[in-house]
Amino acid sequence: MSAQQLVGVIGRGVFPAGQLVISADDLGFTRGDGCFDATRVVTDAEGNSLVENLDAHFDRFDASIVGVGGEPIDRDAWRATIDEALDAWTEPGEAVLKIMYSNGQESQRFGAGADRPTEVFTLTQMPVSNISDRAGISVAMLSRGMPSNAFADAPWLLGGVKSLAYAVNVAAKREAHARGAQDVLFTSTDGYALEGPTSALICLIDGVLVTTPIEGTGILHSITQRMVFEGAEAAGFETATRLMTTDEVRGAEGAWFASSVRGLVPLVAVDGTPLPQHADLTHRLRQWARFVD
Ligand code: PLP
Repeated sequence: MSAQQLVGVIGRGVFPAGQLVISADDLGFTRGDGCFDATRVVTDAEGNSLVENLDAHFDRFDASIVGVGGEPIDRDAWRATIDEALDAWTEPGEAVLKIMYSNGQESQRFGAGADRPTEVFTLTQMPVSNISDRAGISVAMLSRGMPSNAFADAPWLLGGVKSLAYAVNVAAKREAHARGAQDVLFTSTDGYALEGPTSALICLIDGVLVTTPIEGTGILHSITQRMVFEGAEAAGFETATRLMTTDEVRGAEGAWFASSVRGLVPLVAVDGTPLPQHADLTHRLRQWARFVD
């Protein structure tokens, strides 16, 4: 089938794009009170579609849902509706599975049957820009306006929760585009590099692969970065999880953005400063993440 998008409603089934499935007073829409997760779907030449790392994404989705006050999902129910969509998705290539949860409708809060959550997903053809980004992108460093430890002992700030409230991440990307860069590297007010709006940061510094710690920083724990580090360590590479100053990133031997949807994307320049490129290492990082292009 050559649909551009399918929409799944857990417990109700799969619908074509454009079907209205969310109420106008949904708390996800009115307050961003919910969360999501996203991963890649790859469809082979025979039309068989496979979701990558679904269990790891379900684990993080559950943690995000608990973070916004909900209950872990019924995985069997989710799997059944996702499988229905995968059966209908037969166009060879790549797609994005985005799973979404909100705390339901505002009106339910005040009546019978209150607190029924909204559970939906979309399966969408991979945007071509995500594929072309894999050749390398330039980033602008933009401050998140907080110190690197702003999220320590403050669970209400929802650090590590992939909340639906991504307007700041989207606005930062618009600012980067206005500055002539393709993406954003968020920084802290005390001078550290953190993550991208939809990606983790991995740098090669003094021969060591380094990434940002999640503790205190509030960054998302990237599944792709974790897989890269597991593979790198098994192959005898040294890795470290520590804060990196913005100067360290500018002077790094190499830097990449990691995410489930785009895979490993080399950073070609940071604030206009070119970074060294390593096609072989980029290939290895993708292999460690089991991200086949
Ligand atoms: N950081 C943020 C803020 C993200 O939104 C994402 C993914 O969307 C990532 C990092 C990368 O996480 P993953 O590798 O699990 O896709």
